[in-house]
Amino acid sequence: MEKGKVKMYTCGPTVYDYAHIGNFRAFLFEDLLRRWLEYRGFQVTQIMNLTDVDDRTIAASKEQGIPLSEHTKQYIEAFFEDMDALNIQRASRYPRATEHIPEMVTLVRKLMEKGYGYRGEDGSIYFKISKFKDYGKLSKFKVQNLKAGARVKVDEYDKEQAQDFALWKAWDESDGNVYWETEAGKGRPGWHIECSAMSMKYLGETFDIHTGGVDNMFPHHENEIAQSEAATGKKFVNYWMHNEHLLVEGKRMGKRFGNYYTVQDLVKKLKHDPIAVRYLLLSTHYRQQFNFTFEGLEAAKNAVERLRNFMHRLLDANGRGCGDEIRQLVSGVEKRFGEAMDNDLNIPVALAALFDFLRDANSLIDAGRLSRKEAQEVHRLMTGFDHVLGVIGEAKKEEKLSKEAEALIQQREEDRKAKDWKKADDIRQQLRAMGIIIEDTAQGVRWRFEKN
Ligand code: AMP
Ligand code: ZN
Repeated sequence: MEKGKVKMYTCGPTVYDYAHIGNFRAFLFEDLLRRWLEYRGFQVTQIMNLTDVDDRTIAASKEQGIPLSEHTKQYIEAFFEDMDALNIQRASRYPRATEHIPEMVTLVRKLMEKGYGYRGEDGSIYFKISKFKDYGKLSKFKVQNLKAGARVKVDEYDKEQAQDFALWKAWDESDGNVYWETEAGKGRPGWHIECSAMSMKYLGETFDIHTGGVDNMFPHHENEIAQSEAATGKKFVNYWMHNEHLLVEGKRMGKRFGNYYTVQDLVKKLKHDPIAVRYLLLSTHYRQQFNFTFEGLEAAKNAVERLRNFMHRLLDANGRGCGDEIRQLVSGVEKRFGEAMDNDLNIPVALAALFDFLRDANSLIDAGRLSRKEAQEVHRLMTGFDHVLGVIGEAKKEEKLSKEAEALIQQREEDRKAKDWKKADDIRQQLRAMGIIIEDTAQGVRWRFEKN
């Protein structure tokens, strides 16, 4: 809407429990989108809400017998810890639903005044979907055979059950002590009005991009559109972007299916590198479903290792120089990577271009043809790509070997000179057990620490 700027809203986590890596697929897609827009020079304002009051948070806090805010606090903390582990950049703000009740009530009042909101017999306030003529435009379905006045009070339901939905839910016993006394009555907001109120508060009545997983399209986003556009008379969002699901053996990963992993399951219990998890979840196109497997995670780990090793090799490169050849490779990969990402974030094609480039540049290093200066240029290029991918981090040169490891490497060199391959290989295994990987290159022996 505004030159050089992007305003985007992201449906954040419902903090009733730990988020699983399917949820993080959504947050990683949004991170990639934002990083790519920034790479292209846009200034991005990203708002991600925290759903800290809704049907699920209330039910879970009751089950554990602790107050709602105490219950959600632990999952908010865990959420940010996981976000950091996955190297997801922080949004501009993380508004919480419980801190925006007045804004929600104002919106409900507007909808009542315009005749879109009405009070049901149970005291709750509902949105009359038959009055909003565009209802269904996002998920593309027709509202047919609607029973006049049929209503749904729960937050989540299917398309077949499209009905007047709750804007404000009158308190009932199942809410325990979760309620606000407001002009809308004693009660709490519906889940959908939360996102309408918070997005418009921070981004304006119309903004550029709204994201979420495909399961959010109906009813959540459909209802957000209806509420917001009915209240303002303006278009709510210019672009909707929805990520597909992460699956396990062909089924959507989800809490209710019991087929999920959390980030901590993978990192703390199973000792996987969170950055390999990041790579895995990022490397499939966001509109394509895919299955989580440990083989996939292993392949992701290897891909990250290749990138990191390449960065180390660049720091060491000191060849005679190859001039035009590397310049052409650099401009080629910039073009292919950029065109792929500009085309609806086509990351598989962008990564294929990147790994082709790695192969070619590695051959130049092997042949002693990449000069220190050329290597520095390539290093800068790779750092730029990593602002988008967020998987390499900083390559450090100052890693030091222990005296024992140094002695072993020296011994192995002597064994190799004496052509005692068996002994040399034994030492390689011994170093490997110490977490040190040995490579024999044209420039001599190189070592690096194995990352887990
Ligand atoms: P929730 O915490 O349930 O509100 O979900 C947070 C985000 O995760 C939403 O954008 C969901 O659409 C998304 N999501 C939930 N399950 C999956 C999954 N299996 N794969 C990808 N995204 C998901
Ligand atoms: Zn939302």
